[in-house]
Amino acid sequence: MKKKVVVFSQLDRRILDKLQAQYHVVEINPKLGDVNQQILQEVKDADGMIGAGRLLNQDNLSSATKLKVISSISVGYDNYDINYLNEKKIWLCNTPHVLTETTADLAFTLLMSAARNVASLDSWTKSGQWARTVSSLQFGQDIFAKKLGIIGLGNIGAAIARRGFYGFNMDILYHNRHEKPEIAQSLNAQYCSLTELLQYSDFIVIAVDLNQESKALIGAEQFAQMQKHAVVVNIARGSVIDEKALIHALKTNQIFAAGLDVYEKEPLQESELFQLKNVVTLPHVGSATAETRLKMAELAYANLVAVLEGGIPKYIVNPS
Ligand code: NAP
Repeated sequence: MKKKVVVFSQLDRRILDKLQAQYHVVEINPKLGDVNQQILQEVKDADGMIGAGRLLNQDNLSSATKLKVISSISVGYDNYDINYLNEKKIWLCNTPHVLTETTADLAFTLLMSAARNVASLDSWTKSGQWARTVSSLQFGQDIFAKKLGIIGLGNIGAAIARRGFYGFNMDILYHNRHEKPEIAQSLNAQYCSLTELLQYSDFIVIAVDLNQESKALIGAEQFAQMQKHAVVVNIARGSVIDEKALIHALKTNQIFAAGLDVYEKEPLQESELFQLKNVVTLPHVGSATAETRLKMAELAYANLVAVLEGGIPKYIVNPS
């Protein structure tokens, strides 16, 4: 009998075809009603799952009897209840590295857009307000040779730092759970406390994973420590920032601007952020290019198949 795989988000057609050739594949379809009920029903006799962007925990996995692996098409794994997966002896796989450069590109896009008012100036130009030469109201911030503070010098944080150092001659400061001398040395990056980073950086980019310690890492107290011309970029997870405190900091010009790809609650449908000109909002598209999304799906497929065929996947979040 073929093994059963539950696909819990949209999957590239090419990967779906490969899966269907090997396994009994069931796709969760939001158009068919309550997604969690569908998962609970389908996971009962499933051997593997693949997908992204869904909270998976006891509520929708408790019926699983022989589930061996969940293969996430993402590097972040805050959507999954790792303790519960460990209890049920389910491996969680993820897709690091293949999305690093693409996500770093987007972080820099946000940094530059926020620093130079790209989104608001685009609307301003298109609405016919460019009547004469621009005034100081349209001025942005210089980027070249400024101080770039990276919070979380992991794979993506380091790729962002490389862009700043090699492309824009920036001084790199970083704060991380552990010092990273091997990365820091090549970029002349200086390790500092969170407070020092916030006080001295012109640009602050958040690239930590979401965990107990990084939740609400940046709140009112931290915004108060930043410079008035600071630009904050978040490509990590929305909950690393206290969004209310960020809105207050933007409204009161405590900081110059922000560039956001992620939010406390996604999708972001209603928010005070929409009323603010000094924030660039993107819909969680850090890794969203055709090439990178395919590479992520291929890697997730390889991880899944490795486990289902009795092997060891390349990337396991909870190996023990
Ligand atoms: P990574 O290599 O694991 O890097 C995460 C870094 O954050 C690590 O260096 C880690 O330090 C550090 N860190 C964690 N908690 C911290 C804390 N409380 N204070 C200081 N540093 C802390 O992961 P990555 O591949 O760079 O990805 C980072 C995150 O970006 C992902 O987890 C995901 O949430 C997010 N992401 C978003 C998108 C998007 O579409 N916007 C795309 C990809 C990834 P140690 O290693 O020293 O513990």
